[in-house]
Amino acid sequence: MKTNVIIVGAGPTGLALACQFIRFRVDFVIFDKKEAITPHSKAIGVQARTLEIYEQIGLADDLIAQGAIAEKARMIVSGEVRGEIEFGELGKDLSPYPFVLIVEQGKHEKILYDFIKANGKDVQWQTELIDFTQDDGGIKANIKTANSETEEIEAKFLVGCDGAKSFVRHALGLKFEGSTFERLFYVADVEIDWKFSHDSLHVCLSKNTLLAFFPMVGENRWRIVGTFPEEFAKDEGDILYEEIEEQIKKDAELNLDITKVNWFSVYKVHTRHVNRFSEGRCFLAGDSAHIHTPAGAQGMNTGIQDGYNLAWKIWLILQAKASEKILETYNEERLENAENLLKTTDRFFNLVASPDIFLAYFRTHIFPSIAGFAFSIDAVKKFVFPRVSQIGINYRHSSLSETDGSFSVRAGDRMPYFEVEGISIYNELHEPKFHLLTFFDGSGNPPDYPEKFTNEYADFVDLHDLPLYLHIANIFGANKSFMILLRPDNYIGFISSEISFAKVENYFAKVFK
Ligand SMILES: Cc1cc2nc3c(=O)[nH]c(=O)nc-3n(C[C@H](O)[C@H](O)[C@H](O)COP(=O)(O)OP(=O)(O)OC[C@H]3O[C@@H](n4cnc5c(N)ncnc54)[C@H](O)[C@@H]3O)c2cc1C
Repeated sequence: MKTNVIIVGAGPTGLALACQFIRFRVDFVIFDKKEAITPHSKAIGVQARTLEIYEQIGLADDLIAQGAIAEKARMIVSGEVRGEIEFGELGKDLSPYPFVLIVEQGKHEKILYDFIKANGKDVQWQTELIDFTQDDGGIKANIKTANSETEEIEAKFLVGCDGAKSFVRHALGLKFEGSTFERLFYVADVEIDWKFSHDSLHVCLSKNTLLAFFPMVGENRWRIVGTFPEEFAKDEGDILYEEIEEQIKKDAELNLDITKVNWFSVYKVHTRHVNRFSEGRCFLAGDSAHIHTPAGAQGMNTGIQDGYNLAWKIWLILQAKASEKILETYNEERLENAENLLKTTDRFFNLVASPDIFLAYFRTHIFPSIAGFAFSIDAVKKFVFPRVSQIGINYRHSSLSETDGSFSVRAGDRMPYFEVEGISIYNELHEPKFHLLTFFDGSGNPPDYPEKFTNEYADFVDLHDLPLYLHIANIFGANKSFMILLRPDNYIGFISSEISFAKVENYFAKVFK
């Protein structure tokens, strides 16, 4: 069997990467050793940036229709509500999706899998990667199929989306350094009879544990995530559900009746990332490259964005537009992101669950009463929402980012969200290509594209002329015409205060060399 890319693993990372390859018309093979997509609720928090990515392939609305939107968070201390944060307001005007969507991983994976099948492809289930070799010409991989036969696949590239215990990572000899949290986490998908409304996330703040309730679609359905205290000395395999329920009731100090348990799991949490995201023609994406605490619902969303970053670079190479050098930028951009992610999730976890006496006091006495007000302050909103929703991830340090002029939005930033005459700018950006946007202030001559841009580049660059409205000028910090070259993942590659096609060509020469 011959293909361009082998995707190992059909969890959310592998499935979302396959969807991107369909979008870019890159041939691939995807397989997984398990039997089917997960039936469990597992990762439930889908962030705004993931929805923006899905909007480009027409999947965002389907996913939203399957999920619940948590409109606010209630903070509970010793069984009493001590504060509320309104989420709806937090991301207003920053994304078309100013919320966290709560949707079960099983339903999420089904939407991706249905898209793959609707486009004439399929996952080879019960198929396991046994070994692989690579050289300058490509990859040779041996797989064991569902009927226990061994087959060889030849490909140009291989992406290991094979989870935290990644066989691909081990075979490549990459390191996965970090640490393991002492305490045990639990997760339970349950039905609860209690006094609280279903439109809100509930966080019980206590001295030394984490406990949160997320509303799920379905009457009285909730996802509970929590930790046992550090002194709880049992192995994850030895814990009964009854012990989890006992811990929940102790920490919540609430009158709650758990009437049904649909699924539960107890696990140890690691915080680790790989030392490199690639080795030769092989890449890692998702949990195979980074794992961390579930605080902030970031893991699955990060894996989806790994693939989004990689797919267009592989596409350019297969189109013979770029040399393989561009693949170095996958490691450059996603490793920096993984390092930042681990620092943020560790800090956030400490804030919500550390037994440190000062943090515990802040959490239980000060935070609940100031949170509602603090999160209504514009500067706080603009700090918090981009970080949690992942719209604030940037590649400003990347060798692919070039800013020419003075702007408040810089090369390496995601294309900011705004509307033009009542329509989202993202509506213009669905095509899997580069997008050259010129914002024209009406003075001098409008842009006159050289023939090269309208002919030779037409297959991989779309051209957009837009008026420089005041709100756009304010977002970018620009007071005259300017131009932006967006990469196919809607990050700004080049931004210039001069409308200069020669400069755009120079940028392409750099990217494509
Ligand atoms: C309780 C809990 C709650 C979470 N909540 C959130 C959340 O709200 N939001 C969020 O973003 N993240 C969350 N996460 C993290 C999220 O679940 C993971 O980051 C995500 O599932 C990783 O996806 P993946 O596709 O990279 O890996 P996985 O889901 O682990 O998939 C890897 C796949 O590779 C297959 N595989 C492995 N080896 C081979 C092989 N040799 N050959 C073939 N196939 C192979 C496996 O069978 C598996 O299907 C949560 C995690 C947990 C445990």
